[in-house]
Amino acid sequence: MLNFTVGPVMSDDEVLSIGGEQVPYFRTQEFSDIMLENESIMKEFVNAPDASKVVFITGSGTASMEAVVMNVFSPKDKLLVVDGGSFGHRFTEICDIHHIPYTAITPKRGHTVTPEMLQQYESKGYTGLLVNIHETSTGVLYDAKLLGEFCQRNNMVYVIDAISSFLADHLDMTEVGADVIITGSQKVLACAPGISIIVLSERALKRVWNNETKTMYLDLKSALKNAERGQTPFTPAVGILRQINARLRRIKKNGGASTEISKIKLQAEDFRKKIIGLPFEIVSESMSNALTPLHPTTASAHEIFLKLKDNYGIWICPNGGDMKDTIFRVGHFGALTTDDNDTLIAAFKDLQLKGDI
Ligand SMILES: *Cc1c(COP(=O)(O)O)cnc(C)c1O
Repeated sequence: MLNFTVGPVMSDDEVLSIGGEQVPYFRTQEFSDIMLENESIMKEFVNAPDASKVVFITGSGTASMEAVVMNVFSPKDKLLVVDGGSFGHRFTEICDIHHIPYTAITPKRGHTVTPEMLQQYESKGYTGLLVNIHETSTGVLYDAKLLGEFCQRNNMVYVIDAISSFLADHLDMTEVGADVIITGSQKVLACAPGISIIVLSERALKRVWNNETKTMYLDLKSALKNAERGQTPFTPAVGILRQINARLRRIKKNGGASTEISKIKLQAEDFRKKIIGLPFEIVSESMSNALTPLHPTTASAHEIFLKLKDNYGIWICPNGGDMKDTIFRVGHFGALTTDDNDTLIAAFKDLQLKGDI
């Protein structure tokens, strides 16, 4: 299998071998030590202020998106939500379910949020902003600094879903003044799906402690209390947390977050160079290193996805909804090399020879 999707992606051998081991009992000092180390490396990799805390939720990325909305905000808030694709739209749906008032900012597909678009929301009493900093469905990377400055001027709580951007793009929680950063196990961390991670600033923590939240499983108060000693309220996905530990340690040993980001950037640049001449158009004005969103000009995107999967054993990432036939995405993270890019390009050229694209 050669997997260029946006998660789950291919894991390295070290992570794979942990997946084949027995899952240990977890109410032990040994497991607590792993969790405390996971917290400390996570904080280092996003440059979180000292007083920040990290919570590991057993649940995919959406569980942490919902946990953040429920625990950090209340119906007394008034949020801005960047809704530029399916992940941004998911934040609006979560706000609807939990009766959190919001206004959606809706940049055109493939476009970023500009200072002009933000202007009308200055000094209007908004208390928080939710953004998927890399809107994975369209491949647009928003400007974290621009949004951060806007939040700072307006004294707003700044929530970044960086699920597909963490370790692919430069992200500095202190520099951009973020209060919450969310990521997940199956994107650039390239582990099995099932764990999502929330980094909370001091201000976000204060909101959590003062908030009345009606949930048991996603209650961040009990998660935070347990996290103090490296534990979780309920049985976590122990095996995945051990995989995450191996990955975080390995990345740290290899030079840290910036080295991993450079590696993915090279992988993306290599691919973007090699597709020149193929009948594909890049459809985002501001891209993450994580993936390249492409519009095939001569064939259906979904047909190309199916042919690569069924005839070549190569997975690219299809799109859903009204982008199904017009856009596919090629990911640049997981255990991929530039030789793998060559294999994919050769398959594209073969399809071209056959008249399929
Ligand atoms: C993958 C992803 C998620 C989480 O999706 P799950 O399927 O719940 O893991 C959320 N936001 C973004 C931007 C993503 O790329």
